[in-house]
Amino acid sequence: MMVRDVDHALLRAREAKDAGADLVEYRVDELCSGDEGETEIILGLVQDSPLPCIVTCRPTWEGGACDADDMTRVALFEALGTSDHPPAYIDVELAAYTRSANLRQKVNLAIDHDKQSRDVRTSLILSTHDFDSRPADLTRRVLAMSTEGAAAVHKVAFRARSLRDNLELFDLLGDRTKPMIALGMGEFGLMSRVLAPKFGAFLTFASIHKEETTAPGQPTLRELLDQYRFRSITPETRVYGVIGWPVGHSMSPHIHNAGFEGVGHDGVYLPLPIASGETGQDGAYESFKATLLAMIDHRALDLSGASVTIPHKEHLARLAREQGWAIDAMSERCAAANTVTIERDEGRLAVSVSNTDAPAAAACLNEALAGLTGKRVAIVGAGGVARAIGAGVSALGARVLIVNRTPERATALSESIGPDVCDVLTMDELAESPPDAIVNATPVGMAGGPAPDQSPVPGSVLDACPPGTAVFDTIYTPIDTPMLLAARERGLPTIDGVDMFVRQAALQFEGWTGKAAPTGLFERIISEHLA
Ligand code: NAP
Repeated sequence: MMVRDVDHALLRAREAKDAGADLVEYRVDELCSGDEGETEIILGLVQDSPLPCIVTCRPTWEGGACDADDMTRVALFEALGTSDHPPAYIDVELAAYTRSANLRQKVNLAIDHDKQSRDVRTSLILSTHDFDSRPADLTRRVLAMSTEGAAAVHKVAFRARSLRDNLELFDLLGDRTKPMIALGMGEFGLMSRVLAPKFGAFLTFASIHKEETTAPGQPTLRELLDQYRFRSITPETRVYGVIGWPVGHSMSPHIHNAGFEGVGHDGVYLPLPIASGETGQDGAYESFKATLLAMIDHRALDLSGASVTIPHKEHLARLAREQGWAIDAMSERCAAANTVTIERDEGRLAVSVSNTDAPAAAACLNEALAGLTGKRVAIVGAGGVARAIGAGVSALGARVLIVNRTPERATALSESIGPDVCDVLTMDELAESPPDAIVNATPVGMAGGPAPDQSPVPGSVLDACPPGTAVFDTIYTPIDTPMLLAARERGLPTIDGVDMFVRQAALQFEGWTGKAAPTGLFERIISEHLA
């Protein structure tokens, strides 16, 4: 934590202890101007700390806030190392430590190491950071650290430019010569923070409160311990996640992690952002392909499954065809897939790809209509979700009616589902000949969407529907959309987007774990999040 006020820092440290932290880092960058009073304050903070601590005074040239010169910082380290209540660790930047023999000598006098003759107990974390990118001389920096015998822990942190940078951090941990911290900063680096115990990292950092992070991309302690179950992660833990862009607000990590805990599956599920890229569709495909293949090939990572969402569902089906992976009939029909399952059997890799959106939506309607054979299902919209629902319900014997703002897209979708089982209609035609079910597969009615207060289906169409016509909205933010509220006012049965979301997640979960998904738990978590 960044220390500005000692009482506040101690309060936060007590909170961290109560929440389950082992160690606390005090960033004293702003309390190090060489003033003796400030040094006394820092010594007092360490003395009263409820947890063993790391004291870090990060200079501005390494991304910190301390603009004092190196000798001022060294005076602080000496005072800390030789005090009656020393910190467990001080963190000193590799660049400062290696460029000044004087600084190195003084730091070494204040820390515990093989050649130390004084009775000092503080250990040295030698660190290197890059807040912009992966440093071009990363290998040289790691090598330089390994030659500094007085360091107890090596720390490498840089801004991850993509998920692939995490893999290099995991390899650094695999080759470590001393206890090591290897972290990716920013949203692409979360994986390295959460999976630290899988790769034997010395520690990971978490903030007590979201707004008090000391590095970009840091999770909170609660997220780390409760959502990702950090304490239960071991080298054997399997890795799963949701691949998409953006994925920061996905509910999938909440439900799958809780589900793994519920059924006793040794797995952790992460957000796995793969940018859509600025180089068009093909650029997005290439970065999806390179990242997913690199993660699958990384043996120690043990990526065992992934949910795939916008904008990569079509990319997954394309990659599966290119790689010759097993692909299910629904993914073939939709030319889009949302699930990867990776199995390794004595070194043999088997990757399979499936589409759980289509069977999930079809199951919602099949249940509501007590069977789909011969039923007429109207789908409003002609995008990816409309395609999956059309493929899913037509496979169970329903006739599909497409109603879409852009008629050409409706016709194209109808042709791909199969003109023999699919018609294109207008809203007026739908009102004249009401279907057995109406599905919203547009973002109309979605919070933050193009028309959050509107229903994509006019009241006149709902008025024309006989009792028992099922009204299904795929949107789940909010759960009660304008279309569902309008349907309920007319006494029509409704299906919400949470039902579909939970069913598609349950099919993924069952494919990965071989165990029944705790769907009640999934529903409860989603409702709590959306409330
Ligand atoms: P998409 O591929 O972008 O297609 C969106 C469709 O909605 C297009 O046909 C588009 O019409 C139509 N549309 C967009 N804005 C409209 C407007 N203002 N008025 C009328 N029509 C409009 O999107 P998608 O991937 O199919 O997703 C659609 C919705 O499904 C999402 O908003 C999401 O809420 C929901 N969804 C739910 C789940 C679940 O598990 N419950 C999963 C995924 C998605 P044009 O063809 O004329 O452009």
